[in-house]
Amino acid sequence: MKNILILAFWFTSISVFSQKIDIALYFDQSVNSVVFSSVTGSYVIIADSNYFKISKNDVLMITCKGDSVLVKSLNDTLGLFYKVEINGIDKDNMFKLKPSDPSLDARTYDDNLQISSRFRKLLIVNNINIEKYLSGVVEAEGGPKSPIEYYKSQAVICRTYTFQNIERHTFEGFNLCDGVHCQAYKGKSIQNPEIITATFETAGKVIIDTSKTLITATFHSNCGGITEGSENVWIKSMPYLISKKDDYCIYQRNAKWEKTIPAEKWKAYLERYGAQIPAENYSELFKWNPNGRQMNYTYENIKIPLKDIRYDWKLRSAFFSIVPSGDNIILNGRGYGHGVGLCQEGAMKMAEKGINFEEIIKYYYYNVMIIPIDSIMPETSLINNKHTSE
Ligand SMILES: [Zn+2]
Ligand SMILES: [Zn+2]
Repeated sequence: MKNILILAFWFTSISVFSQKIDIALYFDQSVNSVVFSSVTGSYVIIADSNYFKISKNDVLMITCKGDSVLVKSLNDTLGLFYKVEINGIDKDNMFKLKPSDPSLDARTYDDNLQISSRFRKLLIVNNINIEKYLSGVVEAEGGPKSPIEYYKSQAVICRTYTFQNIERHTFEGFNLCDGVHCQAYKGKSIQNPEIITATFETAGKVIIDTSKTLITATFHSNCGGITEGSENVWIKSMPYLISKKDDYCIYQRNAKWEKTIPAEKWKAYLERYGAQIPAENYSELFKWNPNGRQMNYTYENIKIPLKDIRYDWKLRSAFFSIVPSGDNIILNGRGYGHGVGLCQEGAMKMAEKGINFEEIIKYYYYNVMIIPIDSIMPETSLINNKHTSE
């Protein structure tokens, strides 16, 4: 029985490792022109029905020209094409991309690249092994210096998001974009080798709820000691995103914040909601000391959703008390972010204490299971490869 399980896991791992995903790069930046250079491995170009080999050290300049792309190498113009694929043919292939118009930071990517014109800008798509992509996401979303079990929890969360949103950009010809709209992805993970190890050691693992559906695995920087229920932030109540006490994060970097606001500005703000406030000696009236997280700030019969206050005053969180201080009020805040789901700084502390990633995940998401993705989604249904096989 044990051997069968090991064999099943082995096949699972192989199928997950072999899957590729299409990620649109520099998606928020409207790039007109990029410079491609290979870093490791060997690359070939398939441009419409033409085939070119790229010699080592060669550099390609790719520019949008109307509905086509112009490709030049160092000493040659390769031509004008509708679609250019630059495919790695060695075991490990890595390239560097540097947008030149506009000029943006160069980044390093694994695997393949596909470029075409979309709305007169370059559509730059990284066709990449899912786990390699995820290690880049974990670094961008999770920061560079943390214990490995924390990175594992972040990898499982980002993988869950990836599969849940795999069709988010299907009609545009790729799976996910690299901006905050989907998940931040700034190329290959380079700062900490443990990030890649953590991602590959959890390969294929995702989080499901009791109905065997992928969860909405939200996370934030620090919950301030109590996580938030999803219904208080996004209206929809999720059985696994419920408020719970968290002692792991309360001494971490983003556990507390403070903001001083002139009392007269706060008065004017409340009056916009219809509050009746005396003309003088009013700052004491704004004192507010809620017991735990609340949905609303209350002043007499006025209720203002705390998530609106957070947005209006650009606060780090919607979790604070108010202490009057002369002509000012002081907001004593806790945490950083919306507070729903996994608290990153709490998860880091748990990992430091030797708690493993499965326990970390189950601490922040109520009543969930961690399973291999292909036990709920057959591989063939996962990835949109339509535009790679055209
Ligand atoms: Zn997106
Ligand atoms: Zn926390």
